[in-house]
Amino acid sequence: MIGLMQHHPLLISSLIDHAAKVHQGAEIVSHMPGAPAHRCSYVDVARRARQLAQAVKALGIREGDRVGTMAWNGYRHLELFFGVSGMGAVLHTVNPRLFPEQIAYIVNHAENQVLFFDVGFAPLVAMLAKQLNSVRHFVAMTDREHMPDEAIPNLLCYEDLVGAQDGTLEWPVLDERSASSLCYTSGTTGNPKGVLYTHRSTLLHASLACMTDGMAMSARDMLFMASPMFHVNAWGMPYACALSGASMVLPGSGLDGASIYAAMKTERVTVALGVPTVWMGLQQHVATQGLKPREDLCIERVLIGGAAAPRAVVETFANEFGTRVLHAWGMTETSPLATLANPLRKHRDLTTEQYVTLQAKQGRVPYGVQIKLVDDHGKELPHDGQAVGHLLVRGHWIASGYFRAEGGAILDEEGWFDTGDIATIDADGYMQITDRAKDLIKSGGEWISSIALENAAVGHPCVAEAAVIAIAHDKWQERPLMLVMRRPGKDVSKEELLGFLADKVASWWLPDDVLFVEELPHTATGKLQKMKLRQMYGGHRPSSG
Ligand code: AMP
Repeated sequence: MIGLMQHHPLLISSLIDHAAKVHQGAEIVSHMPGAPAHRCSYVDVARRARQLAQAVKALGIREGDRVGTMAWNGYRHLELFFGVSGMGAVLHTVNPRLFPEQIAYIVNHAENQVLFFDVGFAPLVAMLAKQLNSVRHFVAMTDREHMPDEAIPNLLCYEDLVGAQDGTLEWPVLDERSASSLCYTSGTTGNPKGVLYTHRSTLLHASLACMTDGMAMSARDMLFMASPMFHVNAWGMPYACALSGASMVLPGSGLDGASIYAAMKTERVTVALGVPTVWMGLQQHVATQGLKPREDLCIERVLIGGAAAPRAVVETFANEFGTRVLHAWGMTETSPLATLANPLRKHRDLTTEQYVTLQAKQGRVPYGVQIKLVDDHGKELPHDGQAVGHLLVRGHWIASGYFRAEGGAILDEEGWFDTGDIATIDADGYMQITDRAKDLIKSGGEWISSIALENAAVGHPCVAEAAVIAIAHDKWQERPLMLVMRRPGKDVSKEELLGFLADKVASWWLPDDVLFVEELPHTATGKLQKMKLRQMYGGHRPSSG
């Protein structure tokens, strides 16, 4: 028997309509280079998203067509998130930090019909335009006065397009399983692959972000978006903020410590989200400038994901900012939020020290996501916090395949997706990542966690960042090599660092050698580029043998 409750498809357009009606007082603050902060409300975003949708339709875009963006965090990008998906087209957020060949590959693979871009990317767009076969229109996300000088074919102006429409469009009633947006994975091996989100998966994921044991996003929050909106579908934040009525700071490309601190202070930010490297930059700025975040800021929680949160970063937030870190794990394929390290009732009385320890783990699944561990032969492993295995995931906002079937079937017979991550899960359900499968160090048949070693090293006051890779060893097959970037003006020797690590990890985990480097390479999404490091240092042989 079918029940008798109303059925309304879960659509992205309903989020912005809701925000415009119910959360009129919330603010969207955008920082653009060389201009004062731009302020608007969800009412403005909703109106302009409709105008934009009309404009996109007028360009001949139909439901299901892909519309690309190459842009930093700002209100126009936010309008595209709602306008493009709302009218039934697919928003494809392109990562402009990728190599130009990769950008051309994914724009062509996605068959983007239109490409919206920030004026700062005009030289890149001009260079690539000829290779972007499917793109019929290039739209500079600015007004007439600031149009780029570069020679770009079929160039249009965002404000002209939006201004020419009256905003009377009715959002189409789509199937909630329709594609809403497209994001390509970083593609460390092979070609980048497209993850195609649906309206339904996006709304369910947004609801999770607003749950208390999600990110607890609410109408009392001001979010600082320290992760680019082109990374993993903006972590679902545009949708979660519209749903909950949270205000947002969209910082353009200003993700250096000084800009973040200033914005957090002025805008009374309560919650922020980003990868560890961004937070290291902020904390370094605070340390070198002798700032007083406890007095200046009112930030309550910082969500860290994308790479493991180093203990030292969590500690500094706790002790110097009076801010709780919420460690989370996810990937492009998981929308991205899949686990969060929220505490349980039994953790109510944890000391700061114990809370920091809890945040070493990537957390528990919310309703809607399931995880399990298997060994190399697919046998399920216990959730005892000890057994280390391949992390498998399934759920309402997990990918079922890649765009245009790239890479073939990605689920096993029971619908599980192999994340490529290696992890433990404890009896309370807290999952902890030890490595990417390809980054594991297999020493004499045992696994050494490069992440655990890196995080321990970053706890040393002279270490800015550390990376651990496997090097070949005659007896043990592989042994760890540690590459260390010192903090500016600080000095630490190999012997001192090994001594520091000695009581933090098992003795047989200690790196066979430590090399000091000027710089560590990062991917376009802020992760350590281990493949490049293996190419550069994989042949290294410690002098001691
Ligand atoms: P991407 O799809 O580019 O966001 O990359 C997803 C991958 O980032 C995951 O499979 C993990 O290897 C890594 N990752 C994400 N969050 C964390 C975290 N909190 N700790 C460790 N690794 C993480």
